[in-house]
Amino acid sequence: MGRVVGIDLGTTNSSVAILEGGTPTVIVNAEGHRTTPSVVAVSSSGERLVGIQARNQAILNPGNTVYSVKHLMGQRYDDPKIVKLREKLPYSLVRADNDAAWVEMASKPISPPEIAAMILARLKTDAEAYLNDEVTGAVITVPAYFDDGQRNATKDAGEIAGLQVERIINEPTAAALAYGHGDHAASSASDQPQIVAVYDLGGGTFDISIVDIHADMIEVLATNGDTFLGGDDFDDRIISKLVDGFRAEHSVNLREIPSAVQRIKDAVVQAKHDLSTLKSATVNLPFIAADISGPLNLLATISRDEFEELTGDLVESTLAACTRALDDAQLAPEDITRVLLVGGQTRMPAVQRRVGEFFGQEPLRGINPDEAVALGAALQAATLDGEELQKVLVDVTPMTLSSEDYQGRAISIIPRNTAIPTSATSYWSTVADFQRSVDVNILQGEGELAKDNKLLGGFTLDGIRLAKKGEPTIEVTFDIDADGIVHASARDVDTGAENKVTVNTNNDLSMQQIDESRERVERFELQEREQREID
Ligand code: ADP
Ligand code: MG
Repeated sequence: MGRVVGIDLGTTNSSVAILEGGTPTVIVNAEGHRTTPSVVAVSSSGERLVGIQARNQAILNPGNTVYSVKHLMGQRYDDPKIVKLREKLPYSLVRADNDAAWVEMASKPISPPEIAAMILARLKTDAEAYLNDEVTGAVITVPAYFDDGQRNATKDAGEIAGLQVERIINEPTAAALAYGHGDHAASSASDQPQIVAVYDLGGGTFDISIVDIHADMIEVLATNGDTFLGGDDFDDRIISKLVDGFRAEHSVNLREIPSAVQRIKDAVVQAKHDLSTLKSATVNLPFIAADISGPLNLLATISRDEFEELTGDLVESTLAACTRALDDAQLAPEDITRVLLVGGQTRMPAVQRRVGEFFGQEPLRGINPDEAVALGAALQAATLDGEELQKVLVDVTPMTLSSEDYQGRAISIIPRNTAIPTSATSYWSTVADFQRSVDVNILQGEGELAKDNKLLGGFTLDGIRLAKKGEPTIEVTFDIDADGIVHASARDVDTGAENKVTVNTNNDLSMQQIDESRERVERFELQEREQREID
């Protein structure tokens, strides 16, 4: 039996941790870093690259360098958010047979879970090298606000990487676990219950969770967020400003030059980081383009005030989510004992300031925002591995699970913020005489109309007995498991006929696809191990 690790599979950066002598510890990767860029590439010589090597060649190879793949997990190609994203990404997306959004790399379509699996496989190899032992399982974290499809895709990624996914846990909850385990909680008025707000703003996602930490239990009261809001959006505001300015001055659209886009992105991220400690920063990109007069340079200075002005609405929208989470928990900002900041974008002073103002207290900075999630995942992994249980974890489902009625309305089945695992039963009937089957659509979201929610999938109940409309009674049971994944089963109450149904998420991978991906990733892992032995 191999080891079980905790993995923070981030949009921008990933990391892996393990419990050592009762203390969760981040594992340093082959390059000596504590986080690994979530970037995968195929080089011009056809070599697959992951992490820092992939990121370092991005400028020269933008079309075959994939970052932010987390945004694509479990998404349809036509989803409005993906349509918008497609315009910004320097690599191409393609529509898979099942309408899922896939990536084109080295002219081949490849599923987002397979790309994520390459990152997981890398973390697994690093952990194995460090532990000198086989790693067979993992607890993988996801944004609390991930829906069923996104969670399923993450599970697939684990499987493709050859990892038994012991549990999917929410990132802010993992951070709360790390916090609850650490000295911070213990030192504050010894085991007084605390209500902690975990504010997690990473590169691509935002989550807010309100967590009740007791002596023996960590209970999530409410969660809210946006899986398409993060540091990348802060970068985009600067990028747009620079690109627009450049176009006005030189009549050249830098967005149409993929290598320029990547260079601007790198320089802007650096400037953004500088603005967390400095009052102004400069972007200086010589020879970014050329026109008939010769090479053109991009040189711009941006002040912190200007940057805060450009991104103020992004910060405010995170606070609106905080209000919704508090409302759902029936709490006011004053009820929060501690505010925990997680995710690299919380290093921005304006974020710290506004979050502090919102909750009326200085947010806690003692815990490393880049590592808290992986550390919490390692704690959960150890617990599931049989380590002495420290605190029981009770999490919630982030979005309302509903089904669609015949008028297109969303009928709530399991309301958001219900503790999981959970199950709910609803009763269905026919709307026409002698109707033999009923279609059940399953949705997630808060929209009143079915079409305003995400369609997770559906199933058809066949073999209903011949009867007048409204007479048959069909009992449908929905479950949400501890990973936040939805299952359903149905029963004809009159005949007792059971109908085991799987919620067919429209863009799930088939078993065969998972096996094929697994083979490819295994081959890549092997190559990588051989390469390390040579080095
Ligand atoms: P994820 O969880 O999405 O992988 P991280 O928590 O690693 O992301 O956060 C990455 C984001 O944080 C990026 O947008 C990055 O630019 C931003 N970031 C990192 N350091 C700083 C800093 N010093 N100031 C401002 N933003 C930062
Ligand atoms: Mg993160």
